[in-house]
Amino acid sequence: MSQKVGVLSLQGAYRLHAEVLESLDVTPVDVRAPEALAGLDAIVVPGGESTTMSFLLDSSGVREPLARALRDGLPALGTCAGMIVLADEVLDGRPDQQSLGAIDIAVRRNAFGRQRDSFEADLDVAGMDGGPFPAVFIRAPFVERVGEGVEVLASVDSHPVLVRAGRVTVCSFHPELSHDLRLHRQFLEGCA
Ligand code: GLN
Repeated sequence: MSQKVGVLSLQGAYRLHAEVLESLDVTPVDVRAPEALAGLDAIVVPGGESTTMSFLLDSSGVREPLARALRDGLPALGTCAGMIVLADEVLDGRPDQQSLGAIDIAVRRNAFGRQRDSFEADLDVAGMDGGPFPAVFIRAPFVERVGEGVEVLASVDSHPVLVRAGRVTVCSFHPELSHDLRLHRQFLEGCA
């Protein structure tokens, strides 16, 4: 049976993630309400706007059951705003913005600054075959502190932009925009 992978679909760039998962023979499940979390093998938290996503996690009732599922070991892939939403600590966040604390990192929002609000970079990713990964950064965060047991898999200007701790992987960029399935595939293999 194919893996069932949730895509948090409250806001942001969730649609393309579902398409990428389908092309990898995974069944995507839109997560907009707590019931949708039942029976998932993993979850993707997409890019978008982390402050809005934080607000919608509360109003939808998804925050508490999702946090519990993550504590119980649900594998997660967070991209861009999703990296912020899954982090332990958010720098330059809004005061009322709360993250899920699924990975021991501190993430700075909009960290690449105005002149580099959006850019593309070919990333050397640890453990990934087939050459550099073409990564699209849009008002992207980066990781300022990694806790024990967090592996840095790729960096830009020595700032970590792809890190993993156990079954939680987070990246600063939008892999669903790259027409390159390797990052999603690597994540799914890690949670099979
Ligand atoms: N800057 C956004 C935030 O703080 C993230 C941008 C993105 O997901 N492309 O949530």
